[in-house]
Parts: sequence; structure tokens; C-alpha cells
Amino acid sequence: MAREKRPFVPADPQRVTMYVCGPTVYNYVHIGNARPVVVFDVLFRVLRRIYGAEAVVYARNITDVDDKINAKAAAEGVDISVVTERYAAAYHEDMAALGALPPTLEPRATAHIEAMQAMIARLIEGGSAYAAEGHALFDTQSFPDYGALSGRDLDDMIAGARVEVAPYKRHPADFVLWKPSKPGEPEWPSPWGPGRPGWHIECSAMVEKTLGAPIDIHGGGLDLIFPHHENEIAQSRCADHAPVYARYWLHNGFLDMAGEKMSKSLGNVVLPRELLKTTPGEAIRWALLSAHYRAPLDWTAELIVQARQSLDRLYQVLQDAGRELAGYDVRSNPVIERAAAELAAPFDAALANDLNTPQAQSELFQLAQGLRAALTAGDKEAAWLRRAALLRAGELIGFLQADPGSWFEGGADEALKARIDDLLTRRLAARQAKDWPAADAIRDELNALNVVVMDGPQGATWRFRESAEA
Ligand code: AMP
Ligand code: ZN
Repeated sequence: MAREKRPFVPADPQRVTMYVCGPTVYNYVHIGNARPVVVFDVLFRVLRRIYGAEAVVYARNITDVDDKINAKAAAEGVDISVVTERYAAAYHEDMAALGALPPTLEPRATAHIEAMQAMIARLIEGGSAYAAEGHALFDTQSFPDYGALSGRDLDDMIAGARVEVAPYKRHPADFVLWKPSKPGEPEWPSPWGPGRPGWHIECSAMVEKTLGAPIDIHGGGLDLIFPHHENEIAQSRCADHAPVYARYWLHNGFLDMAGEKMSKSLGNVVLPRELLKTTPGEAIRWALLSAHYRAPLDWTAELIVQARQSLDRLYQVLQDAGRELAGYDVRSNPVIERAAAELAAPFDAALANDLNTPQAQSELFQLAQGLRAALTAGDKEAAWLRRAALLRAGELIGFLQADPGSWFEGGADEALKARIDDLLTRRLAARQAKDWPAADAIRDELNALNVVVMDGPQGATWRFRESAEA
């Protein structure tokens, strides 16, 4: 709103409120839809670290009434709830695989129709909205601040309005709060005629109901600034006669493919669901956070390869540390916690600076380098601290919490893992029997599977060879 970076000060540090517009559940989400989820998950984690996990209330809605949902349900000949339940469940699975914590609250539009109607009634009473031909519409001319978020004014909107403006609108920019449903579509009775809510009033009502306005932070993708968020502000401020709806606005940039916004309507989509078959969710998360959240992010195959290699390098240091520090607790007492926090301070500072995730990623490498140096010097105490610092930083941004061994096995399906384990067992037996030709043959077979075997005191571990080391 201010178009500048400002220090964040919550209205009440005991109850920090954040709302992010969630998906319309009529299909599997694409990786562009995952960007706001992952970006605001980082913000959620940072706020929890600063104010305490109990003090942060994060609501992310599910839009479960919409034209596209109706069309899908009609095409399948099922109730809309069949469609919305299926894709909401898939959404939860996909976002969990990307390391996103569940939000504190996940309101659904269809569960808040009453609150939406109450808000519309208040708007009409207060002279900010009107009923016309089975619709309820917001009167944009009644709200002088309309356009403040997006930087548009009403005159531009007239010029930009599509040629055909519905005859019942007083101004071309007036938007729907309530509208009649088409035959066969879900509808609710209302004082303005049977029908269903407009999309914007859903969020205003869910914010009011779940968090209470004004809220501290409102987020979403860049494409929601106008009209969605502009309209939320107009509705909520007029309904409450309030000077502020959300105290800070944050918008993530687009995820692009070959310079074009990834979107279902363009058809240039990549689904996390598909990617996850061959790529660990953590690598997808790394790729999504490799650009600053406000900048565009160009999605390429190379980006995923690089993300995986970055995580390989970090997990390699952790794996080596695990070997050297056998017997040391992974994380332990307040003393080590304090020392680790101090070492991780530059990492924390990067995130605190408007969520500078690329900088935070490079601070993870700094921490890993320190750990590597301590290991090389054989300084176990220093290595212990540095590992704690790296894991602490990783936890804050949602990386490096897996066991390094299972990270390196990531991407293998169960059948392949079983086959590799079997080869390793036979390799061990062949070596113990000093049957060198058999051991060599097994090594060749593992090589062909792209598997690197690492022999250690606790036996052999393995990982896939990166294309770059082939
Ligand atoms: P939708 O289901 O289209 O309403 O989108 C859900 C969320 O994903 C919204 O916050 C959008 O702004 C965001 N979004 C959609 N497409 C992209 C994209 N290509 N890049 C980044 N964010 C996107
Ligand atoms: Zn919204």
C-alpha cells in the first residue's frame, strides 16, 4: 500500500494476524499457485519465531463456490462438494510435500455465507451498496479511497471497462456482492434474491469472521491487487466505517515459464503433483525461494537441477558431520542453542529484511562452510555448534530437516530402493567372501543405476550421482 519497505509492528504482539487468499479448488494447483503458499509459509515461520508460535494466527481460505467448480461438477455429474473435497485434499498433500505448515485456520467460503450476507446488508444500509435485478452491487463512487491500493482511479476504470456494462450497474466499476445462480447451480436464499456471493465479499467476510479487521498482514499474488484486494478493502472499510482494513500488504511476483505467467488459462502449467514424482519437495521449495518473493521467477528444468545440487552440497556436509560427531546430540542444551543462534544471526537478518530468501540461502552455504572447516580441522566442539546453527537456520526456512541418508535416496521409488539395498547386501557378502569378480560385477550394476556407494564405519550408505558428476 505504501509502495515502500516499512518496519513491521503488529497491532498486538500477543496476537499477530495474517490472511492469504487461497486456491479455488476445481483442479490440481500448479507450481505458480504454490509460490504464494511457500512464500507466506516462510513469513509465517519467521513471525512464529519472533512472536511465539501461539501468538501468530494465520488464515488461508479455500474458495469452494465458483463458476469453474460448477462447470467441473456439471461435467462429471456430481455435487460440487465432490469436486471441492477432492481438490482440497490434493492441495493439502501437495503443499505439505513442499514443506508448508498448515495455516492456523482454513475457512471455506460455503461455511460463511451468513457472514457474507450480513456484511452485504450492512453495506446496503450504510449506502455503500445497492440491490438491482437479483444482484447486490458495491457502489464504488461511494468510497473516495477506491483505487488507492492499485493506483487506479475511477475515470481510468471507465475507459478500461469492457464495452458492455451490465445495465443495472450505476458505475462501470461497481462490482458484484451477490448474484443469481444459473439453473442447476448451488444457491442460497437472500434478501436480494436466491443466488451466491461474489468472490471478493467471501474474503472480506472470512477475514472478519476468523481474524477480525483490521488485520496485520494481508497477502496474495500480484494478480490479486486489482480488483480482488482493492474490492476487499472497499467492502471491509465501508462495512466497518474503518480507516484501515489490513495494516501491511504483501504480494508475491509471478512464476513464469519462458517469460509468460504460468496460468491454467494459458495452459503452460507444471503441477507439483507431477514434479513430486521425480523431485523431492524440498528441492521444489528451494527453487521457489531462490528468487526474492516480489521478483518474477522463471521456472526452468535447470532451476530444479540447481536446487537439488545446492541441497546435495548442504546435506553432504551434514552427513559428514553426522559421521564425525557420532555420539554428540544433534541439538541440545540452552548454551549450544544460544551459540547457534548467534552463528545464525546473519541468516535471520536476511529473512527479517523483507524475506530475502536468496540471501538466506547463501547464508546457509556460509554456515555449511564453517561446519566443513571445523570438520577438516578436527575441532569437534566447533563442528557441533556449527551443525546446530545450520540446522536451526534450516528449520526456520523449512530446509535440511531430513536425515541426510534419506535425502540422498530421495527420488527413488520403493522398488528401486529395495533393488539397491539388495545389491548392497550382496556386495558386502561378496567382499566378505573375497569374491572380487562378483563384487566388481555388483559395483558395475550399481554404477549403471547411477548410485554412488560410500563406505563408512557404520556400513555402506548410498546416494544418486548428480548429472554434473557423471
Ligand atoms: P487462483 O487459484 O488463480 O486464485 O490463485 C491462487 C493464488 O496463486 C493467488 O494468490 C494467485 O495470485 C497465485 N498465483 C496464480 N498464478 C500465479 C503465478 N503464475 N505466479 C505466482 N502466483 C500465482
Ligand atoms: Zn481473497
